[in-house]
Amino acid sequence: MFGAGSLSAQIAGHQDTPIIPGTEFHVHDGERPQPRVIESGGAVVVKPPSDAVVLFDGSNTDAWVAVNGEASPWEVRDGVMVAKGADIRTKDEFGAVQIHFEWRLPAGRKVSGQGGGNSGIFVMGRYEIQVLQSHTNPTYPDGQATALYGQLPPLVNATSPQGEWNSYDITFTPPVYEGEKVITPAKVTVIHNGVVVQNGESFLGTTTHKNLAAYPAKHPETGPLRLQFHGDPVEFRNIWVRPLGERDREK
Ligand code: MG
Repeated sequence: MFGAGSLSAQIAGHQDTPIIPGTEFHVHDGERPQPRVIESGGAVVVKPPSDAVVLFDGSNTDAWVAVNGEASPWEVRDGVMVAKGADIRTKDEFGAVQIHFEWRLPAGRKVSGQGGGNSGIFVMGRYEIQVLQSHTNPTYPDGQATALYGQLPPLVNATSPQGEWNSYDITFTPPVYEGEKVITPAKVTVIHNGVVVQNGESFLGTTTHKNLAAYPAKHPETGPLRLQFHGDPVEFRNIWVRPLGERDREK
């Protein structure tokens, strides 16, 4: 469905979904203001630090399995990993974590809104930070690149032109529970092509589609990173993480 006319471009979105608490906007609201478009300096390539867990170095998908536990169906060619067949997840699990990766959508592929250039990273397998070819491709703002999907658009749209690489640098802290209640929500900072686009923001809950995010009563302390296959051959490279432990854990 399309948002009502007005002077703004008609963006495919939803008005039949719940209102996001603290806002006047529906989940996936096509009339939510579009983040300002900026031209970034392009992907920031960061080599893995010595204490990183390297999840993809260009050679193989050994750190990953399909979500059902079978071998990863994603292809590796020319040093990049290409989304194919199913979501994949890491064999390792992480709690608080720093994440770096680079992605691009090959030039020439037709994109339209959520279609054609869609993937995503689910931290702990639960919290999606959207990957979407959002350069000159408007969509509902809580579904564009680096949105906390269905919850919060980025501060600006810093997506590279199609065919060029993007970098994401993410820090994530899991929610803190007291019994079955969340006392501190999951927090995230996202830097896109060197540009801060999510600044210590809180997740309203685990990611859902067309519904209000909420936290479950129980939550594991760690979870895998999951990369989405949404039908599109999104390419990934240089994926590494650093678990963020207690400051004095080495004592
Ligand atoms: Mg996605």
